Amino acid sequence: MLFWVIAVSLAALAIIIVIAAVAARTAAFKSKQTKAPEKVDYSIDIDAAAGRLSQAVKIKTVSGHDRSQFDFSQFSAFHSFLEQSFPAAHATLEKQVINSYGLLCSWKGSNPDLKPVLLMAHQDVVPASDEGWVHPPFSGRIADGRIWGRGTLDDKGSLMGILEAVEYLAKDGFKPSRSIYLASGFDEEVGGKEGAGKIAEHLRKQGLEFEYIIDEGMAVTQGVAPGIPGWIALIGIAEKGYVSLELSTEAEGGHAAQPPRQTAVGILATAIARLQAKPFPARFTGPAAALFDYLGPEMPFPTKMIFANMWLFGDLVKRQLAAKPVTDASIRTTTAPTQFRGSDQDNILPMLATAVINFRILQGDTIESVSQRVTKIIGDPRVRIRPLAGNVFEPSPVSPTSGWSFGMLNDTIREIMPDAIVAPTLVLGRTDSCYFADLSPCCYRFAPERVRSGELASIHGVNESIAIDSYGEMISFFIRLITSSCS
Ligand SMILES: [Zn+2]
Repeated sequence: MLFWVIAVSLAALAIIIVIAAVAARTAAFKSKQTKAPEKVDYSIDIDAAAGRLSQAVKIKTVSGHDRSQFDFSQFSAFHSFLEQSFPAAHATLEKQVINSYGLLCSWKGSNPDLKPVLLMAHQDVVPASDEGWVHPPFSGRIADGRIWGRGTLDDKGSLMGILEAVEYLAKDGFKPSRSIYLASGFDEEVGGKEGAGKIAEHLRKQGLEFEYIIDEGMAVTQGVAPGIPGWIALIGIAEKGYVSLELSTEAEGGHAAQPPRQTAVGILATAIARLQAKPFPARFTGPAAALFDYLGPEMPFPTKMIFANMWLFGDLVKRQLAAKPVTDASIRTTTAPTQFRGSDQDNILPMLATAVINFRILQGDTIESVSQRVTKIIGDPRVRIRPLAGNVFEPSPVSPTSGWSFGMLNDTIREIMPDAIVAPTLVLGRTDSCYFADLSPCCYRFAPERVRSGELASIHGVNESIAIDSYGEMISFFIRLITSSCS
């Protein structure tokens, strides 16, 4: 009897301790949002600026997978257009053309002790046909308070926004204390090697190191986090790596009427099935943990309690995130079989079968560790595994959420968009900034544009457009960012 009394008492005590710990952690889980600084108003001629973005959209700077698919006359036309549109910027900044169409501009600072900063945005856009668009993709139509067309969000909006800001400041007689660099590649949508890749090489040769780098990647969005109805400014502090592994197997060919038990296609199908059955383990890395730390306190109870107590609810959260592809991708290296090839004819046995599996690598894994795991899981010496040449990137380092650069970026967002909550996060895709990882420890992927969750699909999809008000904020943001970087 006494034993049971003690056992029940101990269990009750343990429950009380857990409840107390959960309550204490929830109470201590305070908002990380800083007080919005007082907003400085700039007299931007937004109609003229919107007109210039509209013109920029009309120039079809579409990138293609090899050089022959580019119409480079469009890129030349775009460069001339930029020169005409931003005369003060062109008169003030030094411009270099890298690898024919990459643009690198520098605005020399007065204090050589201050490290320069780098603002990036790419010139190229993905192709678009008229189908499904309310206004044709290269019309640059201004209607319903928005500028419509391919590139308005990805990424001509940012590029033009940065140049509008520089033009504004140059006209105003602003003199930067630290050097401001602008870099713009022309093939981001197909890997960025020729544009941003070559610009990064050029900067590396000069031994340059940047205080911070800002490139596209994340934006200000709404409707993406449960219990937070308002805007969230997501800052990408890291991006996933990228590798495609080709699996291949050879077999004897012959007539399909007398097949072996397993054909080359069958062998590969088994290998792929094994891979899909064993996804990479789910993990909370730095960016995921930082996201919860920033968003959790803004959420209503009990979600807030859950995020405050990941020591207890971590597995529950992992299961929730794993249920949807978009959130699942934030907690593991993903496995995506994308291509499969066997025989050319239905009644001939394949002598060679190949498949391609695309992996987006989470921080903590590497191209090497992914290859090793894949080899082990497949466990079949008949399957040859090799990385496809081309776009191969290790996961990026994680940029800090403390220190001057992050604080300044955070404050600039809070000033220009005081209704938005700031939160660091992981970028699931790849951006041009991946070439610059060794040029600054502070690499932030953020475009100050407002995109509702329902509009996210318009990027690379149909009806891409930006609200004129949002574009105005974007210009103000870059003006403020440059002046704050120099104060
Ligand atoms: Zn882009």
